[in-house]
Amino acid sequence: AAIDEARGAFERHRWDAGPLLAVDAPPGETETVKNPARPRDEVGTVTWASPDTVAAAADAAKPWDASAEERSKVLNGIADLYEANYGELFAILHREAGKSLQDAVAEIREAVDFLRYYGARTEGEPAVGVFACISPWNFPLAIFTGQIAAALAAGNGVLSKPAEQTPILAWRAAQLMHEAGVPKTVLQLLPGAGEVGAALTSNPAVGGVAFTGSTETAQIIHKSMAENLAPGAPLIAETGGLNAMIVDSTALPEQAVAAIIESAFQSAGQRCSALRCLYVQEDIAESFTEMLTGAMEAMRIGRPWDPSTDVGPVIDKDAKAEIDAYIAEAEETGRVLKTCDTPDAGHFVAPTLIKVSGIEDLEREIFGPVLHIATFAADEIDKVIDAINGKGYGLTFGLQTRIDDRVQHVSDRIEVGNIYVNRNQIGAIVGSQPFGGEGLSGTGPKAGGPDYVERFRKHPAEA
Ligand code: ADP
Repeated sequence: AAIDEARGAFERHRWDAGPLLAVDAPPGETETVKNPARPRDEVGTVTWASPDTVAAAADAAKPWDASAEERSKVLNGIADLYEANYGELFAILHREAGKSLQDAVAEIREAVDFLRYYGARTEGEPAVGVFACISPWNFPLAIFTGQIAAALAAGNGVLSKPAEQTPILAWRAAQLMHEAGVPKTVLQLLPGAGEVGAALTSNPAVGGVAFTGSTETAQIIHKSMAENLAPGAPLIAETGGLNAMIVDSTALPEQAVAAIIESAFQSAGQRCSALRCLYVQEDIAESFTEMLTGAMEAMRIGRPWDPSTDVGPVIDKDAKAEIDAYIAEAEETGRVLKTCDTPDAGHFVAPTLIKVSGIEDLEREIFGPVLHIATFAADEIDKVIDAINGKGYGLTFGLQTRIDDRVQHVSDRIEVGNIYVNRNQIGAIVGSQPFGGEGLSGTGPKAGGPDYVERFRKHPAEA
């Protein structure tokens, strides 16, 4: 019903988003925001913040002096407002971020869960002060909300910079946060690109940074914080992954194929948890690859609003160009085993399977529906584990096997944040399955887990 409502009321709606500030500041430029599945559909406009806007907002920013009880009430109130405005949030997720029906529904659920979970954890040590929360476009509601909710739960003020690809959703969600009772001085929204983020992470009024995005940007932020912010200012980072799965010859092939299709291609592969490199034991490789490519063929690529769609668009023109170029290069060297048809208009990329000799061939994370496949011999499991660990991107790892000893052996040795056995490789389930990486993939503790909010507090040892 909410989805029908979204369709009726918001299919043609236009939103005009911009900074939400506690002070007057000169506005930046205004730009049109378009639908990635249908570039002629204008979702609305956004007025950007500039580095001057950041300076004014940072001067006005304050920690939240409400009691722990009051903060908990307001966070739950935001969750209530998200639920009451489900149709509108759904429509923006769909039209601005290209989210499929299932993905949009799951994402609103996750955002609400974060609000209620952190809203139950407002008691504790005092806040750090004012946090900069810098979020990505791939979970434009859930990650945006999760970072802010954790910072607010601990009593911090927040300067939020959402991703430049998804400003409207962030603006609408931040409006609901204000409506629920978060003061304007406590939460300000600064839509913009990297320069706005850079202005934030170098402003000495900022006491800590929560960031989700690429490893490269995390490293730039780390450096900027060391040079400009107070010593010991916390950086809470969730970054990229080069995630692998091992399928041995005892695995149940149907189960493994279903898990792979979801893990690699759901959200058009635009998840940090997504499967990038599949290892199949060589004696089953041929039949297994055939089954996998058959399943890829059956996938439906198209308009996200259609419930039968499996794979929607990638986020924008640049993303499509980058992924297409990567696939074309693999095609030239004859390594593409399977690719699919896509609609002509819109930023669609074909789900593609590329042959490699191992994860060491992957130079960087390709943020799209591209899966690499390698084979290994029966006695090479440890070699595969060493190769995965050697990459240092420890976010997710999947194992499909029916050998119990092997589950133990591999789990003991593999250095990743999240291990998935005989199932799909997906991100957080708030409360029961916290999500986060190791090494180049993040700083921990995991989002959606009991220790996450603690990072947003001042602890006696560090005071
Ligand atoms: P992605 O590949 O997900 O776009 P990015 O790391 O580029 O990864 O972006 C994640 C977030 O970091 C976005 O909100 C982006 O605008 C922001 N960002 C990009 N460059 C910087 C920077 N130099 N300082 C702070 N934030 C940045």
